[in-house]
Amino acid sequence: MLAPSAALAYLNRVSIVPLHGHEALRERLRAAAAADRLPASILLHGPRGVGKQRLALWLGQLLLCDGSGPRPCGKCQHCRYAARFVHPDLHWYFPRPRLKEADASPEDVREDYREAIAERAEKGCLYPPADGTEAIFVAAVRALLQEAAMSPALARRKVFVVGDAERMVPQEGAEAAANAFLKLLEEPSANTTLVLTSSEPGALLPTVRSRVVALRVARLTDAEVRKFLDHAAVQAALEAAGAPSSASERVRLAQGAPGALLAATGLREALDQARRLVAASGAADPADRLRLAFVQGSSRARGSFAQMLEALTVVLHDKVRDAVGRDDPKAAAAAKALEAVERAKALATGNVNPQLVSAALMRDIEAVGP
Ligand SMILES: [Zn+2]
Repeated sequence: MLAPSAALAYLNRVSIVPLHGHEALRERLRAAAAADRLPASILLHGPRGVGKQRLALWLGQLLLCDGSGPRPCGKCQHCRYAARFVHPDLHWYFPRPRLKEADASPEDVREDYREAIAERAEKGCLYPPADGTEAIFVAAVRALLQEAAMSPALARRKVFVVGDAERMVPQEGAEAAANAFLKLLEEPSANTTLVLTSSEPGALLPTVRSRVVALRVARLTDAEVRKFLDHAAVQAALEAAGAPSSASERVRLAQGAPGALLAATGLREALDQARRLVAASGAADPADRLRLAFVQGSSRARGSFAQMLEALTVVLHDKVRDAVGRDDPKAAAAAKALEAVERAKALATGNVNPQLVSAALMRDIEAVGP
């Protein structure tokens, strides 16, 4: 526990960005909870950065709320604690670096999560995607199991949010914990709800997937993204992540999942790739172009190719603006190239090889020059 004055100072710093969008899904969840029909183990899956963990925390708040009227009421003690991540019955797990102590106790794990959650909370609950070394290690699973075995401390129920659940790693010698977790998913006690989230539900262990009710979280509309981007905390976080400063460019790059903009490296990579592609499309040697198209398209994740295409739109828009400012005839070429990018986006959503799309695209934007 924090000392009272430290706790107060912490609470004053916490200003979580409100949840945007997902209205239809929220209504469904609200109605199911009101009718006591909500499944005990849920998986929220959808694009990275769309707000799945934020939505899961909202659902946790809803389940703990005892206010009158539509829940969560935002006013009762449970709501106020939940919104500041200090509700003792709302537990939040997500990938973390492995603790140094090989035999980390549940208390060590809780301490680590307290710090990590306080850090997320102070930044308005805006955080970059987990990096490759972070996972939900067995020590965290053991801590969760211990909490699940206890009675709720304040509310009538307990809620566990497990973000990026595909990062739960099976570990040698930890079969008992893994099995206990599966059992918990399968038949949690009546006062327990588990909400898992995943951007890669295909990577979940089949034994986990078969025990949860999967709900898809759709992309936000551009209008919803705009509202989200309006918050001062979001703007500060995006600035720190090196996102482009224009709001319309941010909306385009977000593709309905604004959290993706917080992935500073992913975004910078996409912009770098786009700039390389424009530069190389002016290269004289067709072999050079082909090689770049190959590199460009070899990225396995279709999502990152889509983000590169959005970044390309941003880069070409800049070129149009510059060229128009200088009265350069290349403005028309850049405008035409933008149309080609739109065609490529349509192709990329189908089952077309990204390398072929890149090669065709480079021919189309050749006239823009480096
Ligand atoms: Zn409430």
